[in-house]
Amino acid sequence: MHKNIFIPSILSVSLFGLSSLAIAEPQHEFSQHQAHVHGMVTVNMVQDGNDFLIEVESPGQDILGFEHAPISQAEKQAYQQAVDLLKQPNQLFTLAAAANCQPVDFLVKDNIGQDEHDHDHHDHDHDHDHDHDHDHDHDHDHDQKHGTFTMQYQYQCKNISQLSKIETQWFSHFPASQTIEVNLLTDSAQKHIELKQPQQTITW
Ligand SMILES: [Zn+2]
Repeated sequence: MHKNIFIPSILSVSLFGLSSLAIAEPQHEFSQHQAHVHGMVTVNMVQDGNDFLIEVESPGQDILGFEHAPISQAEKQAYQQAVDLLKQPNQLFTLAAAANCQPVDFLVKDNIGQDEHDHDHHDHDHDHDHDHDHDHDHDHDHDQKHGTFTMQYQYQCKNISQLSKIETQWFSHFPASQTIEVNLLTDSAQKHIELKQPQQTITW
């Protein structure tokens, strides 16, 4: 195993937290991962015994078409629909049937929708009071920072040795994405796979 060489740091954090996926990481750790390229989604896939973990990091732009906190009714609706979809791993990934994998846990988080809870006064003028110098340990800036979705999907597989193919429907749901960078690490394979719209098959 060469995990330390291969796995991006965010995934290492995830693996250590595998038994408690539902617990959000501290905000300051999450905010380190805000930089991203619009159109590019990163997917980390890791086998851990009979478990298979898929972690997706996507620009909010790809998913929503915007990255600020939803303001208009249309934006709020788009945000809610996206979150509802992202909570359905079977809508996003199809694992090889022979592996007999079932999703057992998931986590969807972002630094976009939370502003809605923090700023529920309908007082948009208050944005101007946010001095960025006093704001750097929060993610409340509306204009300058990127908004990122991070999803984790955990599967348990009865025949994980048969898992050598995954189809993703990501491009169908989110056509603004152009590229999916897949980092794969299993007991038998270590691969970097790049999918370009409209490719959807990951094999190893
Ligand atoms: Zn962005």
